[in-house]
Amino acid sequence: MNQGSWFTRGNVTVDPLSAALAVDDPAIIELLDCDSGEFVDAKSWIGGWRYEQLIRERLEIKERQLEQPRFRCSLCSVPVYLVSNQFKRFFFRHAMEDGSCPGETRSPLTREEILARKYDGVRESAPHRRIKALIVRSLLTDPAFSGVLSERQWRSSHDPRSRRQPDVQAIGPLGRVAFEVQLSTTFLDVVAARRNFYRQEDALLVWIMGGFDPDYRRLTTDDLFFSNNSNFLVIDEETTALSENSGKFHVRCHFRRPARNGNQLVDSWESSLIPFDELTYETASQRCWHFDYDGQAEAVRAEIERDRLQCEEAASQALREGLFSFWLERAPNSRPDRDSILAWSALRRASAAHHGLALPPSPDDDSSLVALMNGLASAKEGHPVGWSFKHLIEVGHRIAEAYPHHVVAFGHAIRHFGMENLLDAQDRTGKWKARKVAIRRSLEKREPKFMPDAASLPLLVLLIPEVGEKLQSLIAKANSINAAASSEGETIK
Ligand SMILES: [Zn+2]
Repeated sequence: MNQGSWFTRGNVTVDPLSAALAVDDPAIIELLDCDSGEFVDAKSWIGGWRYEQLIRERLEIKERQLEQPRFRCSLCSVPVYLVSNQFKRFFFRHAMEDGSCPGETRSPLTREEILARKYDGVRESAPHRRIKALIVRSLLTDPAFSGVLSERQWRSSHDPRSRRQPDVQAIGPLGRVAFEVQLSTTFLDVVAARRNFYRQEDALLVWIMGGFDPDYRRLTTDDLFFSNNSNFLVIDEETTALSENSGKFHVRCHFRRPARNGNQLVDSWESSLIPFDELTYETASQRCWHFDYDGQAEAVRAEIERDRLQCEEAASQALREGLFSFWLERAPNSRPDRDSILAWSALRRASAAHHGLALPPSPDDDSSLVALMNGLASAKEGHPVGWSFKHLIEVGHRIAEAYPHHVVAFGHAIRHFGMENLLDAQDRTGKWKARKVAIRRSLEKREPKFMPDAASLPLLVLLIPEVGEKLQSLIAKANSINAAASSEGETIK
C-alpha cells in the first residue's frame, strides 16, 4: 500500500477513494437542492461521494454560498456549507448561525409547520424561479391580463387578517387568478389547503408545472391531477414563445383521453397548446381544464354498460326461445332421445351460467316444473302442450286442480299472450269463470292455496319477464303483510 497517498482522518488515515462519511447525528438533516428544486437527505448525499470527490464538491458549495447557493437548509432556507469534524466526518452548517433554525435548536415542529417551511424554501430554487418568470412573461404579453404581480400578498376580501402569497397573480377576462408553481409531491397538503382561500375569493388557483412526462410522474401529484379533471397545465419556453409571438397567453395542457377497448375503458395521454381563455374555468371546484375527461369517461362507461345489458338481454332472449322450442318439440311420456338429452343439458348449462338457475338434470325429474312449462307453453301457443288435452281450457283446470301454486302464473300468461277470449269461448259451462272468482277471493284472504310458488319464480322471470315481475310483487306483498301480522301477534303477546 502506498501510504503517501493517504490522508489523515484524526488519528486514522483516510483512503481518498473510500466513501465519504457523514456525522451520525447532524443538526441539518435535509437540504433543498436549489438547482433541481428537490429535497435531499444530507447524510445520504454525503455518503454518495468518494472522499476525494466530496472535497471538490465542498469547494464549489463554499464558492457559491453567497451569490447563488447550491444548498439551503430545508427548515430555515438559510444557505448551508459543508464542513468536517476532527475525524473527517462531514456535516452541513448554516452560513449564518443565529440560533433561529429549529434544526439547530432541536425545537420540535409539527408536520404542517415543516411542510410550510419547506414549501416557502422551495420558491428559492432555480426551477421554481424559472417557471415563475415564464408565467409572468406569458401574462405580460397578453393585453387581456392586467395587474400581473409576482410574490405579492393577496389579502382576503372577507377577512383582512387572512392572506396568501401566490407565486404570480393577475386579473384576467374571467376574474382574478392566482398561479402556483407545482414542483414536488411533498406539498400536496400545503397546496390543498389553499383551495378554500381562493374559492372564498371567487378567484381561481391554477397549478402550473414546468414540464410533464406521463411515464415519469414523480414530480406530479395524482391527487392534484385527478381533482383537475385529469388535466395538467405546463408553461415552458415553447409556450412562452408562443404567447409572446401571438400576444395571447398560452399553456400546454396534458390530459388523458378515455377510449373503449372491448369492455374496458383505456386511457391515452395527449397534449395540446391552448390559449388560456379557452380553458374551462370553475371557481367552485377550483378546476381549470381543457379536455373533459370525467364527462367523456362517464359516457364511455355508460356505453359499455349499455352494450353489456344488450348482450345479457340477447342471451336471455335466446335462452327463452330455446326453452320454449325445446318444450314444443319434446315428446312427453317417452324416453328422451340422444338429441333431446343433449339439448336439455345445453339449456341447463346456459340457465345456470346466465341466470344462476338450477334446472333438474332431466325435465321429467320435476313434475311441478313440467306442469309450469306445459301451462306457459300452452298459453303461448293457444292449445295444449305437453298434455294430451284437446282444449286450452282443460290445461287451466288441470293446473288449478293439481298445481294450484302455478295457476296465477298461468292466468297472467294467458293475458300476456292474448288468449283470454279463446279461453272464455271454451268455458261453455262457466266453470273457469267461477274458478277465477274463487282464486281471486282466496288470494285476497291471503290463503296459501293459490299463492305462487317462490321457487319457480327465477324460471318464470326468464321465460316471461312481465309475468315474473307481477308474481314477484304479489309474493313480496303477501310476505310483508304476513310479517306485519306476525309482528302484531308478538306485540299482543
Ligand atoms: Zn436551518
